[in-house]
Amino acid sequence: MSDAVKVGFVPFSTAVRGSLVVFCDDSLKLGRAAEKVLGKVTGLVKRAAAAQTFKGKSAAVLDILAPEGLKTDRLIVVGTGKASALKDNDFLKFGGVLAGKIRGGTVTVIAELPSAVMSSDQSAALAAGLRLRAYKFDRYKTKKKDGDDVVPRADISIAVGDVAGAKKAFAADDHVVDGVIIARDLVNEPPNVLYPEEFARRASRLRKVGVGIDVLDVKAMTKLGMGALLGVGQGSSRPSRTVIMRWNGGKKGEPPVAFVGKGVCFDTGGISIKSAGGMEEMKGDMGGAACVVGLMHALAARKAKVNAIGAIGLVENMPDGNAQRPGDIVTSMSGQTIEIINTDAEGRLVLADVLWYVAQKFKPKFMVDLATLTGAIMVALGTEHAGLFSNNDQLSERLANVGAETGERVWRMPLAPEYDKLIDSQFADMKNTGGRYGGSITAAQFLQRFVDDTPWAHLDIAGTAMGAPKTDINQSWGSGFGVRLLDRLVAEYYEARR
Ligand code: MN
Ligand code: ZN
Repeated sequence: MSDAVKVGFVPFSTAVRGSLVVFCDDSLKLGRAAEKVLGKVTGLVKRAAAAQTFKGKSAAVLDILAPEGLKTDRLIVVGTGKASALKDNDFLKFGGVLAGKIRGGTVTVIAELPSAVMSSDQSAALAAGLRLRAYKFDRYKTKKKDGDDVVPRADISIAVGDVAGAKKAFAADDHVVDGVIIARDLVNEPPNVLYPEEFARRASRLRKVGVGIDVLDVKAMTKLGMGALLGVGQGSSRPSRTVIMRWNGGKKGEPPVAFVGKGVCFDTGGISIKSAGGMEEMKGDMGGAACVVGLMHALAARKAKVNAIGAIGLVENMPDGNAQRPGDIVTSMSGQTIEIINTDAEGRLVLADVLWYVAQKFKPKFMVDLATLTGAIMVALGTEHAGLFSNNDQLSERLANVGAETGERVWRMPLAPEYDKLIDSQFADMKNTGGRYGGSITAAQFLQRFVDDTPWAHLDIAGTAMGAPKTDINQSWGSGFGVRLLDRLVAEYYEARR
């Protein structure tokens, strides 16, 4: 993993090297350690603040170049707003904002609020934010000369009160950031490079962190009767795959938690072909599967005390002489038959078989699936919330809680028998689209027919996994949405206490 930043923790007593970063609240008050380093220069901060109308608002930045009377060549003051109202997620944001300002070189950050030193968790969140923001996907740019494309690696020392504590807190966060970066990389990769077999190979790299990997090829899936998934992939010269990832960090015999991802490596729409405008973005139609791989990395690398299954259905949806047609009827692994109305409603067909397989084989405590499933979810929620559909109130509430905490927000949408009727078919048990209205809901109703009695939640991440507006902690097209959310879900509610 190539990173534009290297982050480490040092004690407050360490001499400041390179650029200096300190924090102030909305009364421009600095912490004690910062005041000590700045000495007489504190007055300079006040003057510069007045000149730049900097008021110490949350995540506002005061940038002072070549500050007179200081050995450092740059002084960055980050506002915290009301220091009493801060949540851990704010520190992630501060880290992100900082990484957006730093242009390489050596940096010392004094991790201190005006009223107190930052806790280990806060310092760790700061470090995680730095790494998340610094991520850049540029492996296909061969002409990196000067200007914006070349940012020298920044070597960042975070001065903290408790070095061992901060290191320990960050050890886990660091693995979660790695997971987010794995997911972003997968989403950003071009579809000629990342097709089902290659995706399966990348997922198999998790063996290195102790994840068990099983790859089901077309023969194995045919034997299992996964006719819904296989129908989607049959028009592609790239064979489909399903990958099962197993992490056993919990008690032996304890039912696992399970995560299922849609992995349509490229979605042309098939015979119901999409229009040309923006079709290149359909390389990201595997954002759900990417998230599951990143999440499984995070759980295994930080040795989460939980048994977890990650399952991803990998296909390419192409028009071809062998492609499936509107009007075709396929038989899913569950035995239920599906009339294909629109071959562009393919994600639910892939998930149908993988959800059923996971429910039967692993009898999980719950299943959460993630899918860039419908454009309709963007019409409903924009790009700020993922759509949440669930047959279980407790699981929903937990997801909403961790969504608010991590900033990866979800919004619950309805399921009801009346919507379910919209996907009844005159020829088969169901059809794969329910018409224009409530498109995200009928997609979820479809999935629900394949989860059996398992507590289940479906996250429609079409608006959040790719192409969402850039944020303080993400400048990448592929956002890695869901990794931090679901890692927190596991950590907070499903892990045996340490
Ligand atoms: Mn589609
Ligand atoms: Zn799709």
